[in-house]
Amino acid sequence: MEREAMEYDVVIVGAGPAGLSAAIRLKQLDSELSVMVLEKGSEVGAHILSGALFESRALEELLPDWQAMGAPLQTPVSEDQVYLYRSETAAVKLPAFAVPAPMHNAGN
Ligand SMILES: Cc1cc2nc3c(=O)[nH]c(=O)nc-3n(C[C@H](O)[C@H](O)[C@H](O)COP(=O)(O)OP(=O)(O)OC[C@H]3O[C@@H](n4cnc5c(N)ncnc54)[C@H](O)[C@@H]3O)c2cc1C
Repeated sequence: MEREAMEYDVVIVGAGPAGLSAAIRLKQLDSELSVMVLEKGSEVGAHILSGALFESRALEELLPDWQAMGAPLQTPVSEDQVYLYRSETAAVKLPAFAVPAPMHNAGN
């Protein structure tokens, strides 16, 4: 059986943040490259899980004008509060110095 075939310079499997950023970067480096992103979800983003907390450094590097482009990121984190639950009703608030750096989200 002869199958239809389409040729691309680069094929990326998965339109998650990694695949999409790789595709954008490749096109930034060489706009002539033909890049295909294959996604098994019904649409881009359909399979992404997120608590909607976002550290924007990588986006700044990839698309410095992301805010002007209308990215729907509008609420910077103003403070972090991390609690250690001792039971269902009792919790201790951890002081900032006791919270690991990756859990500091102010400004994200
Ligand atoms: C519950 C939960 C909450 C989270 N909350 C946050 C958060 O608040 N902030 C944050 O920064 N990160 C969060 N994360 C982490 C974040 O989701 C991942 O770090 C990020 O999605 C990883 O991106 P990725 O591109 O590597 O993989 P993925 O996002 O998993 O993308 C992979 C893509 O490939 C597709 N795919 C897989 N196999 C195939 C195939 N054979 N053919 C075609 N397509 C395929 C999938 O459908 C998917 O769309 C959370 C994760 C979870 C589980």
